[in-house]
Amino acid sequence: MTIFSKIIAGEIPCYKVAEDDKFFAFLDINPVNWGHTLVVPKQETDYIFDLDDKQIGEMMVFAKKVAEAIKKAIPCRKVGMAVLGLEVPHAHIHLIPLQKEGDMDFKHKVENPSPEKMKEISEAISSQFKG
Ligand code: 5GP
Repeated sequence: MTIFSKIIAGEIPCYKVAEDDKFFAFLDINPVNWGHTLVVPKQETDYIFDLDDKQIGEMMVFAKKVAEAIKKAIPCRKVGMAVLGLEVPHAHIHLIPLQKEGDMDFKHKVENPSPEKMKEISEAISSQFKG
């Protein structure tokens, strides 16, 4: 069971943003920018491009809805999207609010994000999510 499956199962806490029957979204614990969100399929697959066409299409549609909620909740020009997957072997999309290109720099991290602000941000995004 991956760490993300444990999060989805509620065994590890997270700042949840959205969920449907197949996908789950929550704040990245080590955000590169406020509002940095991960979108994951509930079914475990390591490499995102091993998902079949239907699964990857549905994941994109879910990620689009989450990005729309982020855009409404967090002041930004656009929401950027990235796939790395080098750390956690459970396919996921990073959604990151952008004001400028540097906001997508994975070497930059928010310093000591407070639980209060993470909670506030996850609730703000969640309240804008239209499932
Ligand atoms: P990647 O696999 O895309 O290279 O990176 C995995 C991402 O997952 C990282 O940005 C990391 O901060 C995030 N991450 C790793 N473990 C956890 C966790 O337990 N909870 C949350 N919310 N995010 C995590």
